[in-house]
Amino acid sequence: MGSLEDHNPHHFNPLDLEEFRTQAYQTIDFIVNYYQNIETFPVLSQAQPGFLKSSFPNTPPNKPQPFETTLQDVQTKLMPGITHWLSPNFFAYFPSTISTAGFLGEMLCTAFNTVGFNWLASPASTELEILVMDWMAKMLRLPKTFMFCGSGGGVLHGTTSEAMLCTLVAARDRALAVDPNRDVNKLVVYGSDQTHSTYAKACKIAGIPPENIRTICTTLGSEFGLEPRLVFEAMEADVAGGLKPIYLCATVGTTSSTAVDPVDGLADVAKRFGVWFHVDAAYAGSACICPEFRGYLDGVELADSLSLSPHKWFLSCLDCCCLWVKEPGLVTASLSTDPEYLKNKQSESNSVVDFKDWQVGTGRRFRAIRLWMIFQMYGVANLQSHIRSDIHLAKGFEKMVKSDSRFEIVVPRRFALVCFRLNPPRPKSKPKVVELLNRKLLEWVNSTGRLYMTHSIVGGIYFLRFAVGATLTEDRHVAAAWEVISEGADQVLRDQS
Ligand SMILES: *Cc1c(COP(=O)(O)O)cnc(C)c1O
Repeated sequence: MGSLEDHNPHHFNPLDLEEFRTQAYQTIDFIVNYYQNIETFPVLSQAQPGFLKSSFPNTPPNKPQPFETTLQDVQTKLMPGITHWLSPNFFAYFPSTISTAGFLGEMLCTAFNTVGFNWLASPASTELEILVMDWMAKMLRLPKTFMFCGSGGGVLHGTTSEAMLCTLVAARDRALAVDPNRDVNKLVVYGSDQTHSTYAKACKIAGIPPENIRTICTTLGSEFGLEPRLVFEAMEADVAGGLKPIYLCATVGTTSSTAVDPVDGLADVAKRFGVWFHVDAAYAGSACICPEFRGYLDGVELADSLSLSPHKWFLSCLDCCCLWVKEPGLVTASLSTDPEYLKNKQSESNSVVDFKDWQVGTGRRFRAIRLWMIFQMYGVANLQSHIRSDIHLAKGFEKMVKSDSRFEIVVPRRFALVCFRLNPPRPKSKPKVVELLNRKLLEWVNSTGRLYMTHSIVGGIYFLRFAVGATLTEDRHVAAAWEVISEGADQVLRDQS
């Protein structure tokens, strides 16, 4: 039996400020040290499934472990299973950018730990979000119809999935409201075979029958962009079949190959059929802050909503997705709640925005402070140079690929992603053989731990994706990565012959 003192709950102080100060400084030192040495780790974790099991007891400790031991555990037990997304040699998927401003903003977000479901729950959380959503919209030169200072507005979600789901639900309910039979099985939604997989998931969650999700094929001929004519024909056929088109999702910068759907042409079709038109610019939207890329968003003024994830390329750490909508009232009509315990004067007088009615959950983080810090500490000009510098590095890589006749560019590079493959002109190989060669090359490259790349398939072509954008990446990392890839090509070609 322990003494009375052991059981005194008052001895446990989970926020002892002096202890917090010491341990927080230690953690910062740990992080800086990690960033300084990040290149010494294999970029892609070489851990095997279940690697962690034997590292820790299978029940939680009953007594506290010293903080030093805990940080030591992170270093020795967790590190081998970490894939180093912040490594300058990370070229997989799309990068997940971070910055001092984003990091510090995240610290403040956690420090305040506001749960700003409505205005009253923390007025600054809501009002700063309103401010940064309009700032961001102005920087992207969106029309006022998407801004609070105009007739629309924006909200921060965690991911694109939520943005798609919330707008889909709004579109669904708008359609059902005018349908006398209110039959959700009649509703049809549209996208392309390049639309992000989360779209189909959002549709399912919104209750759209999977057989009513039209996935329209794209081809190399249209650089994997969605052709308005095909959407028109699909909608026409569905209407003739007694179905009701409700939603079209276009993508600016697809996940596989950064293809761009023609926003204005698709907007026209959407308008013809009265469907909700959403533009998903999760990755490439950030590039549109530069005038030379803004053209990709032309026609967005005709869209009903637009989403963009600053955690991908805008120096904000996870998670952060901007969603702008032209008619927020349609979203809140679907998602608003009004429980007694949240009632307050400001909400009742409709003089404030309650962001809980613009999202899936109730609780919400103070994400806006992160974006605000990014604007505040960097300014638009630096943010534009950040985008341009990544694109410059990608161009450099593209040049190296083009200079080696064993390789080819699979689709034209638009942003900071290079899509390429090994395909020696002689001896000419069958498509399956070329695919196998590239699979082997990718595996070889990633197993070196010196860089990490991923792959995709478009139009039946298996290719490698080299995505530049990790915050710490410099010229020399791109050059070194190419050396490894080139060495890998020697290796797999030698093995083949
Ligand atoms: C990455 C990506 C998504 C998923 O975005 P998150 O906000 O990171 O969940 C959706 N659409 C496209 C085009 C993407 O590239």
